[in-house]
Amino acid sequence: MPVFDFHTHTSISDGHASPLDMARRCQQNGYAAYVCSDHVDESSVEARVPEIVAACARVGAELGLDAIPAVEVTRVAPERVARVAARARSLGARLVVVHGETLGDFPQPGLNLAATACPDVDILAHPGLLTAREAEQARERGIHLEISAAGLHGLTNGHVAKVALELGAPLVLDSDAHRPESLLSAERAAQLLAGSGLAQELVERVSGRAPWVILARRGIELSSLRAPAEG
Ligand SMILES: [Zn+2]
Ligand SMILES: [Zn+2]
Repeated sequence: MPVFDFHTHTSISDGHASPLDMARRCQQNGYAAYVCSDHVDESSVEARVPEIVAACARVGAELGLDAIPAVEVTRVAPERVARVAARARSLGARLVVVHGETLGDFPQPGLNLAATACPDVDILAHPGLLTAREAEQARERGIHLEISAAGLHGLTNGHVAKVALELGAPLVLDSDAHRPESLLSAERAAQLLAGSGLAQELVERVSGRAPWVILARRGIELSSLRAPAEG
């Protein structure tokens, strides 16, 4: 099964490798596409999104791997998340991830609710102590809730999976890699989802179906792969 991962960082923000080096490792690990989702906030969005777009074009040209420009809206006050997300999209980000209320970071109350209310958002990353109301809002908007492969952000994976499943909100697994060694493999992805308490059929749905729903929602097609048939 191809690997999907909508949340990775590069030296454009606080990652430790260039987009090309990250994408090369993605290719080796069997990724379906490379998604570059560096951090942006109100002051960095204008400069960074064009950099991300250019880096993805270069990855596509040099490696022949589909490369999707994205952002992770990070450290933006809840009431301003929608504005930064919309700006990132208008500058060329095709997917928008929002840095959620992880236990691995300083608290930003209200952020999960603001992000799951925003039509420009695709994924709420590491949502920490996700509430039923947030999960319900994510389901209504079609926003995917993230199971995180990254250190402290993953502390609440079991909780996020449980609440999302109870409320019928969609889940996705991401690496949040800041270096090539932290990117996913198919085997690692399956282990992390099983470790979050998901039964085998749900592991397959989250790694095999959810990524195609995320892409289709924004009209993104891959050059060499197509969504598996329903059923
Ligand atoms: Zn984050
Ligand atoms: Zn991140």
